[in-house]
Amino acid sequence: MNLPLPSHLDTSTASALTGAKDGTPITVSFGDGIGPEIMAASLKILHAAGAKLRVETIEIGEKVYLGGNSSGIEPTAWDSLRGTKVFYKAPITTPEGGGYKSLNVTVRKSLGLFANVRPCVSYAPYVATKHPVMDIVIVRENEEDLYAGIEHRQTDEVVQCLKLISRPGCEKIVRYAFEYARANGRKKVTCFAKANIMKMTDGLFNEVFDEVAKEYPEIKADHFIIDIGTARLADTPEIFDVIVTSNLYGDVISDVAAQIAGSVGFAPSANIGQHCAMFEAIHGSAPTIAGQNIANPSGLLLAGVMMLTHIGQADVAEKVHNAWLKTIEDGVHTADIFDEASSSEQVGTDAFADAVIARLGQTPQKLASVHYEATAPVAVPTYSRPEPLKKDLVGIDIFTHWRGDADSLAEQLVLDGDAPFDLVLITNRGVKVWPSGLPETFCTDHWRCRFMAREGTAPGNKDIVSALSTLAGRGVDFVKTEHLYEFDGKLGYSLGQGQ
Ligand code: NAD
Repeated sequence: MNLPLPSHLDTSTASALTGAKDGTPITVSFGDGIGPEIMAASLKILHAAGAKLRVETIEIGEKVYLGGNSSGIEPTAWDSLRGTKVFYKAPITTPEGGGYKSLNVTVRKSLGLFANVRPCVSYAPYVATKHPVMDIVIVRENEEDLYAGIEHRQTDEVVQCLKLISRPGCEKIVRYAFEYARANGRKKVTCFAKANIMKMTDGLFNEVFDEVAKEYPEIKADHFIIDIGTARLADTPEIFDVIVTSNLYGDVISDVAAQIAGSVGFAPSANIGQHCAMFEAIHGSAPTIAGQNIANPSGLLLAGVMMLTHIGQADVAEKVHNAWLKTIEDGVHTADIFDEASSSEQVGTDAFADAVIARLGQTPQKLASVHYEATAPVAVPTYSRPEPLKKDLVGIDIFTHWRGDADSLAEQLVLDGDAPFDLVLITNRGVKVWPSGLPETFCTDHWRCRFMAREGTAPGNKDIVSALSTLAGRGVDFVKTEHLYEFDGKLGYSLGQGQ
């Protein structure tokens, strides 16, 4: 698909961007709401700075959703994305009401964009902020964690969401964060997790972080538990440099960081994968100000700067970024950041673009200028699967739907002497209720019943099927099972209270 570029772009820029034979092919979507205005402004600046691009356009977003495609993207658009491998994306509008899938999640997962990179910088005193010294980069894992979207209702009262954390996922994101730090002259990488509570999932993230950090001795590495880390980030962001974290925590803290830096309208993001990459502003389509030529194109423009470094046009990236810094420093501001005290002129989207173009070749005098020429491209890590571990089945957790009490449930779960398992524990929402539960504990209708292998037995999956068959014969309503393994002799499950 190659749609005409929007009328905001003058025809010579439009034809240069679509016709350039020697340009790097990129896929562009103009999006919804303010999308076409800010994309046109950004492309105009990139082109004026000498970016060598060959633009292919695709249609995504509101029209596609409302046309009956619940993913918001036409099947043909994938051909362009897979061909160019670089996606410069304006914000889209997700229609109200249910049934529409998140386009961002679809694109990230389909193209394997595992790393979400969000620089959050404050521009004091030119843009009002409580944190004048803030220059951090959040590297968020993009593909797994609770965002795998695997949810189930198991009983009348209980629903669950699976938190999946994988070693390849952790290794790729942590290594990417260190590679990013190395390539960009950053001094420290901080890991945010909650391993004191989620010892296996967040524990794996922490463990991999410590392993990988050893490969980068010149970069300082430290940890924060996510709760106090977020509090420190909101209070004293200047103590952080690069932060690496899993999907949900990263989603939350990157918005906190962008907001406290001064303006969400300034923040760009890059989504990086082994094969493809996507660059966009973090804000949405701002439909209430669409078509008025007042939107701030800065977030999308800075995403374009990240794109230029990604495709090897660091010299142009530096030129654009420094001209943009000079424009901000000169007080030429769009309405969203205009302030009598720090701004000299309020401009619309097009005039802001022209102001940046007029400053191409200049550098800021007070704000720190950027230097991308020295920046080596960030190496995208791959994962090589090690030899398999020795896996021994040592028990099973059987989850049951039961409206009675723990003692009467336990009575139904006693297996006969031939079975290789013994019931050792029942918990309700993780709290031990059998044996010796407390009468005060509130119990739902969802029970985790732990069976451990009897001494001297080596049970297999057939024994599990046979135990479940026995329980089914007694009318036990089991809703899920989890096998308990040891991997090379190391426990592969969390211990229940009292074990
Ligand atoms: P929004 O980011 O569009 O707007 C929030 C506020 O910030 C509004 O007051 C808006 O006017 C202002 N704003 C945002 N960007 C601005 C800019 N560049 N210049 C000046 N002001 C700006 O968030 P929302 O209102 O919650 O969402 C609107 C639509 O955008 C929704 O349909 C939502 O689903 C979608 N959205 C898309 C993306 C994306 O495509 N990546 C991200 C977030 C939201």
